[in-house]
Amino acid sequence: MSNPTWQVLIGVGHGIRISSRLGLRFGPYIAGIVLAVVMLATATIATAAGGSFRCVLNDGETVLILEDRNLQNVAVARRDQTGRRTIVTNPTYMELFQPATQWFWLAHECAHQQLGHTLGNYGPDREQQADCYAVRQMIKHSEVDLAGLKAIQNDISKVAGDGKAYRSGPERAAEITACALTKPG
Ligand SMILES: [Zn+2]
Repeated sequence: MSNPTWQVLIGVGHGIRISSRLGLRFGPYIAGIVLAVVMLATATIATAAGGSFRCVLNDGETVLILEDRNLQNVAVARRDQTGRRTIVTNPTYMELFQPATQWFWLAHECAHQQLGHTLGNYGPDREQQADCYAVRQMIKHSEVDLAGLKAIQNDISKVAGDGKAYRSGPERAAEITACALTKPG
């Protein structure tokens, strides 16, 4: 684990835990194991929001979105061995959520990339930052409507927190709603 890229991956070994209310519970995501998975397929993420999700950073870089059904998470933001920024999703878990929430998870991981969280800039408030940035981007780009926001709130209120980076589902959903209702400060 002396490779600096791996260190970054461990620091950003975060994503979404699904609550026991959904009948599933995942242990901590272990970056080293997931990195060992070689079967990655390019993902085509189509959602009901009218189009396919794309993660284009402010510097023009398009973040590659990959699928990995062995990923112990809905989605994660990471860098590959060459330092290229990627998003990896597990469609099996993604399908448990409503389309607007699926889009939100991708926007959340894209926010981690945009905000530099995979470049060592990962701190205790970064999950909230990514949530807030994601929902505001979705509104800005007309990728979500009121029904979609309600779907996101409903889904995320069922997601378990971890007492650390992730707040409880209801708290997290409330914060996302608050971000949706306010402009960036
Ligand atoms: Zn996150």
